[in-house]
Amino acid sequence: MSDFEYANAPESKAIANISPNYGLFIGGKFVDPKKGKSFSTINPATEELLSKVGYGDKSDIDAAVRSARAAYTKIWSKMPAKERGKYLYRIARIMQERAREFAVVETLDNGKPIRESRDTDIPLAAAHFFYHAGWADKLEYAGFGSKPKPLGVVGQIIPWNFPLLMLAWKIAPALAAGNTVVLKPAETTPLTALLFAEVCQQAGLPDGVVNIVTGDGITGAALVNHPDINKVAFTGSTEVGKAIARSISATKKTATLELGGKAANLVFEDAAVDEAVEGIINGIFFNQGHVCCAGSRLIIQENVADEVLEKLKKRMSLIRVGDPMDKNTDLGAINSKEQLNKIEEISKTGDAEGANRWSPDIKLPTKGFWYPPTIFTGVTQSHRIAREEIFGPVLSVLTFRTPAEAIEKANNTMYGLSAGIWSDKGAKVLWAAKQLKAGVIWSNTFNKFDPASPFGGYKESGWGREGGRHGLAGYLISDSKVNK
Ligand code: ADP
Repeated sequence: MSDFEYANAPESKAIANISPNYGLFIGGKFVDPKKGKSFSTINPATEELLSKVGYGDKSDIDAAVRSARAAYTKIWSKMPAKERGKYLYRIARIMQERAREFAVVETLDNGKPIRESRDTDIPLAAAHFFYHAGWADKLEYAGFGSKPKPLGVVGQIIPWNFPLLMLAWKIAPALAAGNTVVLKPAETTPLTALLFAEVCQQAGLPDGVVNIVTGDGITGAALVNHPDINKVAFTGSTEVGKAIARSISATKKTATLELGGKAANLVFEDAAVDEAVEGIINGIFFNQGHVCCAGSRLIIQENVADEVLEKLKKRMSLIRVGDPMDKNTDLGAINSKEQLNKIEEISKTGDAEGANRWSPDIKLPTKGFWYPPTIFTGVTQSHRIAREEIFGPVLSVLTFRTPAEAIEKANNTMYGLSAGIWSDKGAKVLWAAKQLKAGVIWSNTFNKFDPASPFGGYKESGWGREGGRHGLAGYLISDSKVNK
């Protein structure tokens, strides 16, 4: 290996105009929380304070829902569908115009590499609005019945791993279908949602169609339990997803739940090894492994396992970990101290249960929250690191001898969000895809997303689909209570 070093290529923060304080976005305006409480959001790469953000409680949620209901009844439900579509186009274009600003704010608040926020999160978020803008006036031709109707007011709760993208996944289809929304961003990453609120103002979106209430799990629970919402759309942990399902079970509210995952990434003996190694890297180290569909269980055919692992380790040694604002960085900061503790705790059980840990010799920054890219070999199916979602840059490696064994191991999980198959044989790929119990299956690639492609899970990975025509169905009355 050469000693060639990359020079720093820092992205400038100058474009990000982060206010020291933010209110809640209710009825088209930023307003102070009724109790005047706020909380801090920090840069996880440096632990520096970025802003103080309003803490919304039950009374703020109530104000937001009332504003969404009024906007729904008086304006949004009466507006011709093609007019709704125009607003979505306008929002998409403004997001593109302000893409660099969004990318910088996302990276500062989340810790993800600027390369990813710039090239993945923000373009995909804009693409979601473009895609759904096109749907707004075509719903009656799409098999949803002759006059598909919106649900009304939707409560939406999102996690911190893809803050703006998850917002787009939620808000774009809801508005396209004619609903109004109250969205609660995650507590550690509220800033791009608040920037999005400014975009709504800039686009002239009627007041109250989108309301954004920042806060924590208590704020989220107040939204879920509000009597005047028609649907809950949630992305987050399986634990909270189950709690939400319980709270709405005796109500008329519908739900889509996009929960955890422990995806199998299967490498067959006939796979193109170098390509598979790139796919494994992307599958687990993209976004620090803070990805519900991450390829966190690598299952390799035994006769090629040594070769794959040797190449994988070599490739992992080239991963650049550090300043997320550096355009050369591959792996950024862990989003919070709490998440870092979780990754450490569960990884330690890998050591205790007898798996072999390996990380490249990488120097981590001293400030902020960091975890090195890590693999565990010698993992068995009963190990916690093979069963539980780590949500960090940690890969568990298992092996198999026959294709049937590969499928059995892959499906031996309470989750079923995604899976990957690496093979040169098309027939084998199709055979395996048919057996795998997972909502999204990638073949000879990983972590590819498109607004037209439905996304969602089997088993404890959730209910319903987001994206594509299937995702829209979950925002229309023609759908059943639980949009499975
Ligand atoms: P993660 O493990 O990604 O932090 P969580 O499920 O804890 O997942 O959080 C995802 C989102 O759900 C966040 O916006 C969080 O504030 C919210 N949340 C947490 N607890 C609850 C709850 N009991 N009811 C509703 N929302 C909640």
